[in-house]
Amino acid sequence: VVRAEGVHKSFGRTEVLKGIDLSVAAGEVMCLVGPSGSGKSTFLRCINRLETIDAGRLYVRDELIGYEERDGRVHELTDSAVARQRRGIGMVFQRFNLFPHMTALQNVMEAPVQVRKESRAEATERARSLLARVGLADRAHSYPSQLSGGQQQRVAIARALAMRPELMLFDEPTSALDPELVGEVLDVMRGLADDGMTMIVVTHEMGFAREVGDSLVFMDGGVVVESGTPTDVLGSPRHGRTQAFLGKVR
Ligand code: ATP
Ligand code: MG
Repeated sequence: VVRAEGVHKSFGRTEVLKGIDLSVAAGEVMCLVGPSGSGKSTFLRCINRLETIDAGRLYVRDELIGYEERDGRVHELTDSAVARQRRGIGMVFQRFNLFPHMTALQNVMEAPVQVRKESRAEATERARSLLARVGLADRAHSYPSQLSGGQQQRVAIARALAMRPELMLFDEPTSALDPELVGEVLDVMRGLADDGMTMIVVTHEMGFAREVGDSLVFMDGGVVVESGTPTDVLGSPRHGRTQAFLGKVR
């Protein structure tokens, strides 16, 4: 579903991604780990076209992100075509980013009604079922300020799912949470994985990576240092940098 080939990204003179190659097959969960500043968030933002890339290619479902190939050449896509691509990709951030003036139900319904032009009745019914799926059927009318961080993050996941994405990107979804709230969010993500969602998850939760991840990629300094099954990478990391990092997070 996702394929990166030689992806480069610089901010000014700082090269943040120095040629990333990786791929995620349909229904797979890839966990992305690495030290602060290694380029994990930047890479996710490139997939979602929140950032443009300077070189290389990024494909989601065999479509180039941000470009199209026509007459043997690569052309930039129009904004509306980029928006269409982006709709197929759900993203959940460290901070929940819910609309504070809307209830949980309204947060989940907003994009389907405004962007997908679903009827209110259809969107309401689906939002309710998504809230039930993340274990919040009884909090539909609560405002974000009335919900715990873990509950807010579960609403954020429901809101991303409301757009019927084929790929979900998670950028440290539990790192802003109190420790006792981490499990409920990871459980929802585990359920999504069990249902066959393709996911890329930036996380420091190695237990989650080991149990749910199909692959684990360790990034440092804008490159993929090593990748493999979580058992292999966590159990017998081959590179000194991986060993040093895992020694700190475990
Ligand atoms: P963390 O674990 O702290 O979230 P990360 O691996 O997600 O780190 P990125 O956020 O991708 O790292 O940042 C990689 C590098 O790119 C950092 O040095 C950061 O300062 C730089 N960077 C990120 N976004 C920008 C930007 N918009 N402008 C300039 N520099 C940026
Ligand atoms: Mg980050």
